[in-house]
Amino acid sequence: MNSRPTDERALLGLLDEGETRSPHERAVLLAGAAGPASDVAIADLPLGLRDRRVLRLHGLLFGTSVHVQDTCPHCAEVMTCVLTVDQFEEVPPTLATPARVELDGWTVTCRALTSTDVAHALRAPDRAGARLRLLAACVVDAERDGLPVPAEVLPPPVAASVVRAVAEADPFAELRLCLVCAQCGGSWEAVLDPAHYVWRELAYWGRRLMGDVHVLARAYGWREHDVLAVPASRRAVYLGLVRDG
Ligand SMILES: [Zn+2]
Repeated sequence: MNSRPTDERALLGLLDEGETRSPHERAVLLAGAAGPASDVAIADLPLGLRDRRVLRLHGLLFGTSVHVQDTCPHCAEVMTCVLTVDQFEEVPPTLATPARVELDGWTVTCRALTSTDVAHALRAPDRAGARLRLLAACVVDAERDGLPVPAEVLPPPVAASVVRAVAEADPFAELRLCLVCAQCGGSWEAVLDPAHYVWRELAYWGRRLMGDVHVLARAYGWREHDVLAVPASRRAVYLGLVRDG
């Protein structure tokens, strides 16, 4: 999307485009809508950098509050807590250089995963195949006792260390929240998926906007294009007049 991030028609187009896409493809669309990208394609950004852009889009469209709702696993109380986009700025940055793992004579250089890597893994025939594709994607090179080896032959303890190193290299790729229940005081860990959250907010915004278009189109005989061409502040006045009869 080359228009301003807050352009209503472009955002409705984004919702249309993402309607049948996978969650990861939607994340790429949202990150792309957050503003001009660098020379690296969004799909090839580390997941954490992609998701930072997604939350930036949330800030531009809906403000800085992020409402997280989850069910307490101890007493089943449904809890909502309000975070701000700024709080996520405290998450350590994605490593700019590959990480290095050394274990039992194995040396592995690995990098953060990207949306392209995840899309490739999701096309694998089964979960084991998907895991192997992710491992192969994040391994830049691997050696055993100084000799190069493919990622596929890494023993489970080394592969597990690589997975940990990749997660530590890109902390924003999995946002873990420590929640405390206001009812029973129990605590638990939840994961926030920014793209899932922002897509849901955007879909809700889109439905409300289409409701406004519907009301004004019926009242004045305008087309959708006409309604959206009216600035939001004047549209609110017209909506008020229609509703007041
Ligand atoms: Zn509880």
